[in-house]
Amino acid sequence: MTPQNCLNFSGGPGALPERVLQQAQEAMLCVPGMGLSVLGISHRSDWFASVVSELENNIRSLLKLPENYHILFLQGGATQQFSMVPMSLLHGKSFAAEYLHTGYWSGKALPEARREGPIRVLWSGEAEGFRRMPRDEELPFSPEAPYIHYVSNETVEGVQFQRVLGRDDVPRVCDMSSDFLSRPCEAERFALIYAHAQKNIGPAGVTVVLVRDDMLKDAPTELPSFLDYRSHASAHSNFNTPPVFAIYVVLLVTRWLLHEIGGLVQMDQLNRRKAELLYSVLDHSDNFYQGRAAVADRSLMNIAFNLATPALEEQFLAAALAAGFSGLAGHRAIGGIRASIYNAITLPAVEKLANFMDDFQRQQDT
Ligand SMILES: *Cc1c(COP(=O)(O)O)cnc(C)c1O
Repeated sequence: MTPQNCLNFSGGPGALPERVLQQAQEAMLCVPGMGLSVLGISHRSDWFASVVSELENNIRSLLKLPENYHILFLQGGATQQFSMVPMSLLHGKSFAAEYLHTGYWSGKALPEARREGPIRVLWSGEAEGFRRMPRDEELPFSPEAPYIHYVSNETVEGVQFQRVLGRDDVPRVCDMSSDFLSRPCEAERFALIYAHAQKNIGPAGVTVVLVRDDMLKDAPTELPSFLDYRSHASAHSNFNTPPVFAIYVVLLVTRWLLHEIGGLVQMDQLNRRKAELLYSVLDHSDNFYQGRAAVADRSLMNIAFNLATPALEEQFLAAALAAGFSGLAGHRAIGGIRASIYNAITLPAVEKLANFMDDFQRQQDT
């Protein structure tokens, strides 16, 4: 088995489109028209300024994002946003920001926010093992909150919101790290969206932040400048040396989304067909494969399931790897199996996995 034959269902860093990898490989040696490796081009060059501005335009057009949003390319991952958001929007406030605790990653945001100001956990799915998302009647949002924070897709548990939450008079902040640009998301209904690149739109090292400009005007002035969104907005994401290569690959991915996929409506249709294929294997398996998530809240990106015993799961993972399917082990926090089918995973790849799962079950049953 050569590595090229492996299909990558990893939870993250995730697979990238083959076309993008080819272009990145080419740029590693020489960016077309530049005569330099992408790894050695100055972040102060005209070329890099044009990369940033094309990428901003691509994201704006994919999401139909109005002009009053800054599009920033930051470092520190989504984890840094767990702190940067409350440092800017919660510090010194008397009313509590409202947080939803719907899984592993939204849980990681809570202690960081508590350092900066009061928060209220409006709903937690912890007691139920994060197998479902809250219904609207379980979410008594308050009009006083400085903002609400939630995670649109819980990458570890495989539960995803299929609607926008909250009230229109309270700013919405959303961690979309694992479903950003996988579907239209009504971005203009959010005050701030963040997503690191390495799940769906590029390599690790860059985090995209979309922030409505009115959110920044009251941020504390004593913030370290690197942690102040305004520094990055006024420097056009060139405040210090940015991760040029990672940003360039994200640009290639947005070109692929626009010109080869045709936009987010088309991406969503494809992603739905992929997810339906795998969920249908679970649903027709007579409980051989036990899906973790409540049916209504199933993630289109991360399909998490269990087999009857951990030993059988081990056997499944070994057989899958031998058949060329990589990255299927569940997150270390909960174990089990997880098939992550981000944008770059093709329909034929998912068909192969679905067939493998059917075959594996048949072999066990005989
Ligand atoms: C993976 C993940 C994170 C963590 O991101 P880092 O870039 O490693 O800090 C945060 N939120 C969600 C939803 C994730 O899937």
